[in-house]
Amino acid sequence: MADLSNLRNAFASGITKPLAWRREQLGLLQQLLRDHETELMNALQQDLGKPAAESWSTELGFLHRDIRHTLKNLSRWSKPQRVKQPLLAWPGRSEIRPEPLGVVLILGAWNYPLQLLLSPLVAAIAAGNCAVIKPSELAPATAALLEKLIPDYLSGSCVRIVTGDAEVASKLLEQRFDHIFYTGGSRVGKIVMRAASEFLTPVTLELGGKSPAVVLADADIKVAAKRVAWGKWLNAGQTCIAPDYLLVEDAVYEKFVEALQSAIAELYGDQVADNPDFGKIINAQHWQRLEGYLSDGKVAYGGQRDAARRFFAPTLLTDCSNESAVMQEEIFGPILPIVKIRNLAEGIDLIQARPKPLALYGFTTSDKAIEQLEQVAAGSQCFNDTLMFMLNHNLPFGGVGNSGMGRYHGYFGFTTFSHMKAVMKRSSWPDPDFRYPPYTGFKDKLMRWLTGGSK
Ligand code: NAD
Repeated sequence: MADLSNLRNAFASGITKPLAWRREQLGLLQQLLRDHETELMNALQQDLGKPAAESWSTELGFLHRDIRHTLKNLSRWSKPQRVKQPLLAWPGRSEIRPEPLGVVLILGAWNYPLQLLLSPLVAAIAAGNCAVIKPSELAPATAALLEKLIPDYLSGSCVRIVTGDAEVASKLLEQRFDHIFYTGGSRVGKIVMRAASEFLTPVTLELGGKSPAVVLADADIKVAAKRVAWGKWLNAGQTCIAPDYLLVEDAVYEKFVEALQSAIAELYGDQVADNPDFGKIINAQHWQRLEGYLSDGKVAYGGQRDAARRFFAPTLLTDCSNESAVMQEEIFGPILPIVKIRNLAEGIDLIQARPKPLALYGFTTSDKAIEQLEQVAAGSQCFNDTLMFMLNHNLPFGGVGNSGMGRYHGYFGFTTFSHMKAVMKRSSWPDPDFRYPPYTGFKDKLMRWLTGGSK
């Protein structure tokens, strides 16, 4: 178990404050990713059957871009930001100073076991914190490799990796941290928040939920189908922001289902089981959970599976009732239910009847429809594509309501791991009398005038 006193002492010594230290650590993390790229890709392959191209685009390459973006902007982000001074406090100056929080805890999830652990770490280091990181036990090869590599690269007195299961995570949560950043499901999210409340520790919860994709009749059906297929079956559907269910307008329903079948065939061929470009399900328990959903509707495509290899083909499910488990729970796998809607209004009603999703996708060429969908609450939205907003480090990433709280990526990660401290500096002279008692009619008038509240 991590002894936090070492990390606390290191933080108190001020070692993490200079930008030079932060840059050095980020550079070392970059070096780790470069030096051990093949081993990391092999671990991801072992845990999730991740094709090398996906390991690059969604894990290693993502992190390289994240670090580069952070290094490029770090000095600007960390500078005190001057803000206007109210008349009442003249002469003087006000500024916002980002301040590191202290020792933070990062709990990663298994589906992108590198990215979801190390991207928050990039932000934590950039903001000048010490960190304890815990990879998910469900991606054991990646966790074991990181446990070996992290101490070889990053400062041991400031960054500690702890591996283990829920019991280890619970023990960690018994300690006081200055921030907890958790990625995973909402059940554990509640446990994390309860534990954090003991010390009034702020939390970021990156959760999941059911992310809908709406396909309207005026969409480019072929491109929409291909982009839905890509976003859904990347990592065998185990992506928090993958389209969880489709709402397709009546007029193009048949055409879209056909286009989706063609897109799957084009992307993965007809022997998906042997296709190295298609990942596998994380473990037997999740595989069985997914199999249970098949009886919730009619399998319109796919359905092939092999428990021994944890293979589960891209599967389209139609005729699912709104009350069925597949339409109530987050699927987090390669099954995609397709629901027919009469029009956009019906689709919006269906979405708004559920908890606010992590992502919302809309496929349409109509600006008016986009404007209507923009009114719907969601963690993120993307029109005429899926997942691509993740590529933009200038956008915040995080859920709302049941899909999470807080945000990160780029500057938003930096502020998540910083206290944005308000600082006002004044001089002792002049020291006019009007704000001090004893209050008089004149003082009151002057005060009202200066604060813009004069009658
Ligand atoms: P998981 O099982 O990997 O758990 C996440 C972390 O919580 C792990 O480090 C684990 O050790 C820890 N944990 C497990 N049980 C615990 C307990 N009782 N007490 C304390 N800690 C405990 O992840 P999961 O929950 O299976 O992940 C899947 C969910 O995560 C899905 O809902 C998905 O949508 C969501 N997710 C969200 C994001 C996002 O960025 N918003 C990304 C990936 C996954």
